[in-house]
Amino acid sequence: MKYYDKQFIDGVWREGSGDKIMENRNPYTGELIYSYRSASTQDVDDAYEAAKRAQPQWGATLPEERRTYLKRLAQVIREMESEIFQLLAEESGGTRAKFGFEYGDSLKVIDDAMGYHMMMDGRIMPSNIPGKDNYVFKIPKGVICVIAPFNFPLLLSLRSVVPAIACGNTVVLKPSTETPGSAFLIAEMFEKAGFPHGVLNVVAGRGSEIGDYIVSHPVPSLISFTGSTEVGQHIGKVAGELLKDVSLELGGNQVMIVLDDADADQAARAAIVGAYSHQGQICMALNRVLATPKVYDDFIKAFVKYSKEVKVGDPFDQQVSIGPLINRQQAEKVEERIRETIQAGAKVELEGKIEGSVVYPWILSGVTNDMCAARCEMFAPVCSVIPVKDEEEAIRIANDTEYGLSNSIFTKDLYKGLQLARRLESGMVHVNDQSIHHEPHVMFGGEKNSGVGRFNGHWVVDKFTTEKWISVQRTDRY
Ligand code: NAD
Repeated sequence: MKYYDKQFIDGVWREGSGDKIMENRNPYTGELIYSYRSASTQDVDDAYEAAKRAQPQWGATLPEERRTYLKRLAQVIREMESEIFQLLAEESGGTRAKFGFEYGDSLKVIDDAMGYHMMMDGRIMPSNIPGKDNYVFKIPKGVICVIAPFNFPLLLSLRSVVPAIACGNTVVLKPSTETPGSAFLIAEMFEKAGFPHGVLNVVAGRGSEIGDYIVSHPVPSLISFTGSTEVGQHIGKVAGELLKDVSLELGGNQVMIVLDDADADQAARAAIVGAYSHQGQICMALNRVLATPKVYDDFIKAFVKYSKEVKVGDPFDQQVSIGPLINRQQAEKVEERIRETIQAGAKVELEGKIEGSVVYPWILSGVTNDMCAARCEMFAPVCSVIPVKDEEEAIRIANDTEYGLSNSIFTKDLYKGLQLARRLESGMVHVNDQSIHHEPHVMFGGEKNSGVGRFNGHWVVDKFTTEKWISVQRTDRY
């Protein structure tokens, strides 16, 4: 990596002018990886000005030119594969398996965006006024602010940045303070791919210093935010007062419903992936399993058995599936929530150790939906199993949450699975699979407090563009 300690503004690497030196530590070893001076509000102004200056020319590039830039970006990412893995493992504790998913989908996001110019089509519409033609053009929104979370810092930044740029917008990206290195790495990728100055700008700094400023700034017309529901609601409020458009991809509290006719062993194997991938720090991670009487015991037995086989530890170890949480405070918060749930009457089926920032798998059974571990987004390898008497109760309990992102149902009756999926109040449901899915050409997004807006394909093109009506009067009207 070229620079760990600089901001990227208008194609220039420069020191931030904020008042704090920020330190980033490896969540597994606790070692200092790098430090940098935070961005100030002046840096944010400069980044937005650069993006605003660059946009008209970038928006006017020919579709084929933009496609060529994106092809080069994908090529650069392929060349930087080992460097990217190194940073993601060091900075965010991501394992090799998690890297495979994040890296692969990042490339697919770019691949898909190469065709977005084809979706920027307009319409010619008839007029009731003689001699008039109506044209509706789809045009870039202008400058877009992208705010990214810590858990998939490469993919979830690129998932917004790449479509925005493919549609002719320019971008200011603000990463999480936990993972700014990944955003600096993205800036380096754009630089190597030869994008014009100002098309992508990266400012990293404290939320308290630049957070609200970056959202309420007059330049961006859309805030594309991925992160927690709490911060998303705040951003929605700030942006709403200023009549700025938002795309909010927020938290989740997923269920897997396992019905009497399901293969309990299959469901348990799937639950391992759903609950423990990236140590459970995924918006779509499995938080609760709702099992009906005939499968309840078999499911728990298999789930515990497979959970014991999962290797936990150093993310650089190829055999490890569960690395550290993003920091020690997060592990402490999780421990507190587990204790509270046990005190409320849950039974511990599998007691995971907690060592510093590393949390081993925990399985709690006999949980009721009002207990802490069932209500909160745990964001850790902790899963609550809730007994339900039938599918009606399962649907009621599954929907009894503020969230509505992604859910799953296991049943051998595929048609029943489809019909029950339609009754789940979430943006995504997977029948006979676990809850974590992302296919860059398929719609992605949540309901209720899990977000506003949809990603990928024409959904993201619609969000990242606006429409403009131009009428032309061919004959004298007055
Ligand atoms: P977070 O909300 O704490 O932070 C997200 C980003 O917002 C960070 O860049 C942070 O610095 C920034 N931020 C914080 N306060 C801000 C403010 N006042 N103004 C502007 N920016 C501000 O989330 P996190 O801990 O990084 O990520 C975990 C959360 O994200 C979980 O709840 C998870 O479910 C959610 N998430 C959702 C999706 C999705 O697609 N729905 C994907 C990944 C993560």
